[in-house]
Amino acid sequence: MTETYKLYAIKYGTHARTAARNFMQPPDPHDAPYPIDYYVWACVSQTRTVVVDTGFTKEAAESRGRDWHRCPVDSLKLVGIDAAEVTDVVITHMHYDHGGNLDRFPKATFHIQDQEMAHMTGRHMRYPVLRHSYDIEDVCGIVRELYKDRVEFHDGDEDLFPGLTLHHVGGHTQGMMFVRAWTERGWVVLASDAMHLYANWLDRNPYPTVVHIGDMLEGHRKVARLADGPDHVIPGHDPRVMDRYPAPSEDLKGIVVRVDLPPHGN
Ligand SMILES: [Zn+2]
Repeated sequence: MTETYKLYAIKYGTHARTAARNFMQPPDPHDAPYPIDYYVWACVSQTRTVVVDTGFTKEAAESRGRDWHRCPVDSLKLVGIDAAEVTDVVITHMHYDHGGNLDRFPKATFHIQDQEMAHMTGRHMRYPVLRHSYDIEDVCGIVRELYKDRVEFHDGDEDLFPGLTLHHVGGHTQGMMFVRAWTERGWVVLASDAMHLYANWLDRNPYPTVVHIGDMLEGHRKVARLADGPDHVIPGHDPRVMDRYPAPSEDLKGIVVRVDLPPHGN
């Protein structure tokens, strides 16, 4: 029997930047403000809690000039999740803004694609342009977890649990994957960086951090195909997600939204 999930998007940081930074072919005006948000996500059913990505530390934020609003791991408490008790964490890819803080999940199994582990420890990392988005401490961190038997590998598309599926796309990184969850309104896709911003897909204008442009565009298409509609796609860095979906409570407005619920009318 399948399970139905509540889905939380928790915003923990931002980066003020211009449109030119977010698109391969910068739109006009390319110097218009176009900030991005940083999120972690949680999938909660009656029997199971799965965390999707683990965010970055304050130190990482400072070294890269990002605005760090709150600790992404501590923020899980806002929706009733104690990181110390979490048993399953999906790492969509190991870029610094998605795969830090692993040591904060002492009971977790980390789910990752074979190709991501190969990519971040392989020949491509000889090139600064490709290793720039990885943090060596995080890369060593996931290898440490592997040696503690806490890493589960996935190869392509797999059912993780009833009502929760994993999908490899590549493109942004070689092992990039996204998560799809069954909710009361159908299949919702937590795209992570398989689709950074709505406009990357709608304008067919991908985000410029990329290993393979064609795979990234095909990945957008796969995200859209596996979601039950355009409103069922949750991009990985789009500030509009916070505007579109309802907060679980008044005091969490601007911090957490429920993306298993329908968006507001806008
Ligand atoms: Zn990212």
